[in-house]
Order: sequence, then C-alpha cells, then structure tokens
Amino acid sequence: TNSKLPGTFTNIFSVMSQLAAEHNAINLSQGFPDYDCDPKLIEFVAGAMKGGHNQYAPMTGTPALRELVTSKVNTQYGSDYNPDTEVTITAGGTQAIFTALTACIQPGDEVIIFEPAYDAYAPIIRSLGGLVKSYEMAPPDYRIDWEMVKKLFTANTKMIILNSPHNPTGTVLQDEDIRALIKLLKNNDVLILSDEVYEHLVFDGEKHRSIALYPELKERSFITASFGKLLHATGWKTGYCLAPENLMKEFRKIHQFNVFSVNTPMQVGIANYLQDPSTYLGLADFFQQKRDFFRGLLSQTKFKMLPCKGSYFQCVTYDHFSDEPDTVIARRLITDFGVAAIPVSAFYTRNTDHSVLRFCFAKKQDTLEKSVERLMKL
Ligand code: GLN
Repeated sequence: TNSKLPGTFTNIFSVMSQLAAEHNAINLSQGFPDYDCDPKLIEFVAGAMKGGHNQYAPMTGTPALRELVTSKVNTQYGSDYNPDTEVTITAGGTQAIFTALTACIQPGDEVIIFEPAYDAYAPIIRSLGGLVKSYEMAPPDYRIDWEMVKKLFTANTKMIILNSPHNPTGTVLQDEDIRALIKLLKNNDVLILSDEVYEHLVFDGEKHRSIALYPELKERSFITASFGKLLHATGWKTGYCLAPENLMKEFRKIHQFNVFSVNTPMQVGIANYLQDPSTYLGLADFFQQKRDFFRGLLSQTKFKMLPCKGSYFQCVTYDHFSDEPDTVIARRLITDFGVAAIPVSAFYTRNTDHSVLRFCFAKKQDTLEKSVERLMKL
C-alpha cells in the first residue's frame, strides 16, 4: 500500500517501554510516574462516576473544568481567556497538538520545529502535507541562535512550534529568546503552537514564560497543556488547548469530529479536585527534589550529566567512554544492565546522534536508587 508516512515506525516510547517490559528492565524511558496519583483525586473521579456523570460531556469540555482552567491561567499568568470560546478540553496534550496542527496546516505549509523535539510533531505535520523545517539544537546547552532560525522563514512558513520547559533537554526559554521571537514574528502572521505540558516543572528559581504572558504572541498562539503531568496521571489522557476565539473556532471544527468530547467523569473529578490550588503548587519543589536526588546518584556513574532546568527528564552523554550510537547503547542498557532510557537521536528527523540518553526521573526514590545501582556496573 501507499503509505502516508513512509519511514515512520512505531514510536520510540512504545518501542522502549515494550523492550523494557520484555527484559524486566527498570523503565526510565517513557515519561510517566511509577507512583500513584493522590487518592483524593481518585475519590473525586469515583464520586463523579457514582454521581451519574457517565454520559457525553459537552464537545468543548465541561463548563466547570473550562472555568477552572481559565481562572488558573489568569492567576498564574495574568492572562484572560474566555472559558466558553477560548479553551477546549482534550484527550491529552498530544491530541491537542494533533488537532491544532490539523486545523491550520495545509499541503505545502511549512512548520518550524526545534529539535530534539517531541516525536509527534514532525509526522503529524507531514501527514497533513506540511513541510517540517528543523532547527537543530545541540548539547551541552541546546541554545537557540535566533539569527539562524530567521533563515528558516519563507513565504510558506505557517507555524512555529515551541516547547518550554523542553522535552527532552530540560531547557527553559529565557527573556532573550522571547524577545528574539517577538522581533522575528513582528511583520508576518506566522502562528505559534506552544507546547507547555511541563509548565509547572521549572527548577532553581527559573520561571516558566508562558506564551500567555505576551499579548502580541498570545493573539496568534495555541497553547497546549496536560492534566497527566499536573496530576501524576498520564493514563487518564486529559489535557487542554487555549487559543484566541478565531483560532479556537477552527480547532473545535476538527476536535468535534476527532474525539467529539473527552470522558466526563475525569473532567468532573479533576475540576472538583483542582479547586484547591495546593494540589499542584508544590509540583516544582517535588520534582526538583527528585532531580537533585537522581543527579546525586548519577554522579557516581560514568555518565556526564547535561543541565536540567525543567521537565522531568535528565539527559546524559557518554561519548567520553563509548563510541556506540545512542540507539545501540540504549538497547545494551536494557539487555545487559536492566535500565531503559530514550536515545535522543529519536527526537531528530535526521536522527542526529550527539551520544545523548534521556532518563525520566518521575519515579520513586527506590526506583531511582535501583536503576543507578545497575548503571554503576557500566
Ligand atoms: N511525553 C512523554 C515522553 O516524552 C510520553 C509521551 C508518549 O508516550 N506518547 O516520554
């Protein structure tokens, strides 16, 4: 058959998680917690089911959850979104990304992405007949040279995808990046898709610069976010998208025929649970402790650690002791040492290999300890 996506295979997260399971390895590859979410949250969702919230939610999401989201965004970023017309509840961050791209990208449109990039962006763009224009960032600091980004712009540039805090590198956009971006977009109508699923996970007093903070960017932006990351419940596949009304109108045209609406009891339960902001305000500290703990352990291994200012991923390099491709060492770590990581070349469309592995540290202390015990044998 004539494949729409030749050269696209089962995604790296499925492959590595399955390989980890086959070899009984500790899975630090796919990003998800190995501890459970708050039992109170489960009570709220169970209560919603028992309370009869078991039929279709409104296409756009339950009013209570949309209001919760817009008031949370207002408190955090001082930014107003209309809960009726400018937010839609989605089946996770990835569905929000898929829908925003589908609503905007037509054959021949170009989309600028920063690589290493979350692996969903490029195939979605291509499936729509769009062209991926990659800006490749490199270790150790993965900085963006905005003069070089400027060279990627053409008359066909339709959208630029941002992701801060960044998966997989843990970098966080700085003021100078935002200023350069504003300058770059001044005289065109290029759209922004800002993937902010790790918005709460910023460390060392860094701050998350949401696109919602900048009116001149906000007016042309889709912002996508994830309750899975916020609530330690990635399996619930719930998230949302924010956008000004004119863009949200287009988003909803696609959303309604894709998932129609997102499961009701989760939305009701999450909205009730999040009425109390203390349920998420400690998230940065919680993950900073995990990061520090994990980095402390990793310093006893042969790996060199790259900086990590945000997200729940720690990247390491190994080219000072091995010249193996990252896919090869990642496989060997699973089969011979029982620890799974993500080879970061999977996040480059050209599979650029800088000898970097990504570990997820959203794990129990015990899991992190056991995995590093194993890595120390390397
Ligand atoms: N965002 C998570 C990661 O980067 C997992 C996403 C997924 O499995 N599709 O690991």
